[in-house]
Amino acid sequence: MERIVEIEKMKIESEYENSLRPKTWGDYIGQDKIKKNLQVFIEASKKRNESLDHVLFFGPPGLGKTTLAYIIAAEMGANIKMTAAPMIEKSGDLAAILTNLQEGDVLFIDEIHRLSPAIEEVLYPAMEDFRLDIIIGSGPAAQTIKIDLPRFTLIGATTRAGMISAPLRDRFGMHFRLQFYSYEELSRIIKKASLKINITCKDEASEEMAKRCRGTPRIALRLLKRIRDFAQIRNEEFISKERARYGLDELGVDEQGFDEMDLKFLNILLNSKGRPIGLSTIAAALSEDEGTVEDVIEPYLITTGYIERTARGRVATSKCYDLFKLTPLNSGLFAQKEN
Ligand code: ADP
Repeated sequence: MERIVEIEKMKIESEYENSLRPKTWGDYIGQDKIKKNLQVFIEASKKRNESLDHVLFFGPPGLGKTTLAYIIAAEMGANIKMTAAPMIEKSGDLAAILTNLQEGDVLFIDEIHRLSPAIEEVLYPAMEDFRLDIIIGSGPAAQTIKIDLPRFTLIGATTRAGMISAPLRDRFGMHFRLQFYSYEELSRIIKKASLKINITCKDEASEEMAKRCRGTPRIALRLLKRIRDFAQIRNEEFISKERARYGLDELGVDEQGFDEMDLKFLNILLNSKGRPIGLSTIAAALSEDEGTVEDVIEPYLITTGYIERTARGRVATSKCYDLFKLTPLNSGLFAQKEN
């Protein structure tokens, strides 16, 4: 069974996703605190006729970081240039991007934690003083040429809050951590999107999908697209609860929204008899790299309370044991927790 939450696939900007991307605050559902703050800061900088301070978004893939960057640019009446850290290999690549910016432009750098230290060094004066320091030559004869840059807003996005260097993080005036979405918010996102792709989604159907998409709009939209296929192949004009359920089962998404990888992960912990398991062991057992396990799989399982990170490793919680109607043979860990 194909895994619906695959990280590499999640990175591919599909036309479908772009066509559904909210363009205004009104269409951007949830993340209310972030929205409210950003609206104030945007309004204030517009009043002062200044570019917006640099913004950093943290959070697992698919929660709406890129979408927020587009909305900020639109609200500021600015152009947006998109890039990702792995595409910036040399300092010259970054210099070329920066010198091509216009006054007020928004520069979006995805996966910003992956910038090399040498490139980060180029970014610091650009972010602080809108200045590019280019070193020509080497050794004692080396010269630094300073080039003024237009005032721009850097928007960085990262799935790995812990991987971003402190000097880089500190140069962003605003930091926002995106949260997983509630069922109600996801249901609204699904209903809105279904209208855009010309199919009606019954309330119970969108609610069913909302419960099974790991709190993530990107997954919700993927599920909607596949379930639309199941409905349309039967010439159904709307998505019913039954069709949604059928489609979700066919796609291998279970009642809790766990996909195959989640279930494998939980299985490892549930089989450990309550012993904590280290990240590297879990990653090896899942044939995934540790970063994917930490950024993509774990955040949802932690937020929903099925697993915990402890100093000695990952453990399944009592909620997780209850769900699978199991008890840890070594119950000491949980007895301790309940005190
Ligand atoms: P990220 O950059 O965090 O990986 P994106 O911004 O690319 O996530 O969002 C993935 C998709 O989910 C977008 O195409 C967009 O259509 C949808 N989406 C994300 N956040 C929201 C939201 N708050 N409201 C409606 N749709 C959203």
